[in-house]
Amino acid sequence: MSVSLPRSYYHATRQLDLASTSALQGDETTDICIVGGGVTGCSAALHLAERGYRVVLLEAGEIGHGASGRSGGQILPGFGTEMPAIENAVGLDAARRLWAMSCEAVDLTERLIARHDIPCDLRHGYVHAAVKPRHAKAMQAHTERMAKIYGYTGERWLDRDALRDHVRTDAYLGGLFDAAGGHLHPLNYTLGLARAAERAGATLLARSPVTRVERGDVTRVMTASGCVRCNAVVVACNAYLNGLVPQLDGRIMRVSNYIIATEPLDAALASRILPSDPAVSDANFVLDYYRLSADRRLLYGGEVSYSGREPRALDRRMREKMSALFPALTGTRIDYRWGGDVGITLNRAPDFGRLGDTLYYAHGYSGHGMALAGLAGCLLAEAIDGEPARFDEMAAIPHRRFPGGERLRVPLLALATTFYRLRDRW
Ligand SMILES: Cc1cc2nc3c(=O)[nH]c(=O)nc-3n(C[C@H](O)[C@H](O)[C@H](O)COP(=O)(O)OP(=O)(O)OC[C@H]3O[C@@H](n4cnc5c(N)ncnc54)[C@H](O)[C@@H]3O)c2cc1C
Repeated sequence: MSVSLPRSYYHATRQLDLASTSALQGDETTDICIVGGGVTGCSAALHLAERGYRVVLLEAGEIGHGASGRSGGQILPGFGTEMPAIENAVGLDAARRLWAMSCEAVDLTERLIARHDIPCDLRHGYVHAAVKPRHAKAMQAHTERMAKIYGYTGERWLDRDALRDHVRTDAYLGGLFDAAGGHLHPLNYTLGLARAAERAGATLLARSPVTRVERGDVTRVMTASGCVRCNAVVVACNAYLNGLVPQLDGRIMRVSNYIIATEPLDAALASRILPSDPAVSDANFVLDYYRLSADRRLLYGGEVSYSGREPRALDRRMREKMSALFPALTGTRIDYRWGGDVGITLNRAPDFGRLGDTLYYAHGYSGHGMALAGLAGCLLAEAIDGEPARFDEMAAIPHRRFPGGERLRVPLLALATTFYRLRDRW
């Protein structure tokens, strides 16, 4: 079961309404049916419709109901794991092409926002902050390696003093600044993609939970009140998949993650704590991340749950961490609190693939999907339209299922995280 949520700041500030949000009733026939109305599904719908396909997208809740409408909104190059892990998995040449695709994902996000005039408050600048001396050492080695092996010079190591131009706290020993990264309002971005897909001719149907997918000469995608017959189906359910495609069980796990939003901060205070208005995350394994919203609230994320139940005393814990970083925020009111489900893979690299010729999937971005999911939609459309090379390159990243079978997977993952959380203290 997914987390049950108070209304999020994003819902309170949504800017776009869609034309078609009715539920599926009766039978429809189309070329491609997409299950899931997050960034992956909406981007796939847009890119497929632009290529001339008839598309029906079915979303269980409202468009943006899942992680895409709840996330920290950080737009970053790279993956949920470091590049050496990708190199070990696929070799250096393929890793270089995958890195380039991750940078393309960030560019694509910006292009989509500009082309479709999506009002989602895009800002540039990302800080990855060192909390421990070992983080600082690893980050400096990382920038040198990225320049040497990938020719990537976008990240700059900033010592404690230099970092204060971006984040003013005594808690960090320094950090990496990357001007290519940034942040946006994730729900408005997702709705903007959905609106663009509609304008390109796709049909988007909300409140239409898919109960079964039957593959055959014609694929049938069923809900309680109707059926879509199609030539191929794209499964874009990520952490909310919940057993819909049994062959994918155990490839990704759901981890709930939480965000609070403060009251709007005074302009002087906001620019005192985050002078360059960047997105920030720390280098801990169970990381905290934050940024300002367009109306200068601090949106502070972190804390995980494996049961889908909100951790106890969440507000207090988040508030303590926030105040430890920025004492000036002590006593600041919290106006919103919400959570969402992240889909992680065992190796934290995204999991793309197909079952037979008619079912495609892309998921498991491991907390790093706001940009990658947009590219996934584009690659899904390429693959379905007979240009599978780039999709296949992503799909070639090998994945293993989480150990422990249906009963022990969650406890084992929680145990592993406890180990890493303890290591975060060193
Ligand atoms: C709290 C939080 C913070 C995050 N912060 C960041 C961040 O700062 N930067 C970053 O890069 N990533 C972040 N992520 C991850 C990022 O949000 C995801 O990787 C990305 O949104 C995945 O998009 P998606 O479309 O694949 O999945 P989702 O947005 O989760 O969409 C899946 C959709 O499928 C629908 N669905 C599921 N089952 C069915 C069914 N049977 N029938 C119909 N519809 C169905 C769901 O309702 C859902 O809307 C965060 C995630 C969370 C939860």
